[in-house]
Amino acid sequence: MGWVKVDQILDLFLPPHCALCGQSIARSPLCQGCLTDLPWLEPHDLPAPAGFDQVWSALAYQYPVDRLIAEAKFGGQLATARALGELLALRMPESTPRPDLVVPVPLHWRRQAERGYNQAEEIARGLCWQLDWRLAAGICQRQRATPAQAQLSAAERRMNLHAAFVARPLRPELHILVIDDVLTTGATAEALAHTLRAAGAGRLALWTVAHALKSPGSSQACGDQAGRLKV
Ligand SMILES: [Zn+2]
Repeated sequence: MGWVKVDQILDLFLPPHCALCGQSIARSPLCQGCLTDLPWLEPHDLPAPAGFDQVWSALAYQYPVDRLIAEAKFGGQLATARALGELLALRMPESTPRPDLVVPVPLHWRRQAERGYNQAEEIARGLCWQLDWRLAAGICQRQRATPAQAQLSAAERRMNLHAAFVARPLRPELHILVIDDVLTTGATAEALAHTLRAAGAGRLALWTVAHALKSPGSSQACGDQAGRLKV
C-alpha cells in the first residue's frame, strides 16, 4: 500500500490544491512536501491513558495538524476527517493485529445533531475504507451531554466523564480498536475504556490522529501514565 492508492482515494473527495500551502496538486489533500513535513510521531515515550492494551497516535498536535483537525471538527470538512483516517492507515504500527470492530469515540446525539456528523466516526470511516476493517459506530453511545472539557482540569474531566458512556454487551474474544481525533488528557478515552471493559470487551486499542500530551518530564496531563505506551 502506498501513496498512489491514498492519493487516488483522496482525489475523489478533495479539490486539487494542497490544503496547507495552496499549491496545485494532482491528488491528495496535501502536496508531498507538506505531507512529509507533518509532525509525525515516533511511537515511544508518550503518556498513554489507562485501560488500553495498545495506544498509538500518528502526529503531534501542533501546526498544521491542529488546523486540519479543527477543519475536520468544526469546519464541516468530512473529507478532511476521512483523509486523516487514511493517514492513520498508512502510518499504522507494523504487525498490528486486525481488530474485529473499529469504534469511534461517540458524541452525544445532541452535539452530533448540531455538528451534523461525528468527526471521530469520519476518521474511522477513512481508516476502515482503506484497510477493509469493520466500522461499528453503534456499539456504544455517549449518554450524557458532557460540558465542554477544554476549561477543566484533568481531575474535573474525569468527574465530568463518570458514566458518560454506555455500551452494548460484547463478547470477550473481540478485539476492539477505538478511534479519536486528538488525545488530550486521556480522560475521555479512559472513561470509554472503562465502559467497554465493563461491557465485556477483550483486547482494547486506541488510535488517535494527534497527541497533545506533554512528553515525560514535563507536567503530565494524563495522570501518572507516562511510559505506559505499548506499541
Ligand atoms: Zn502543500
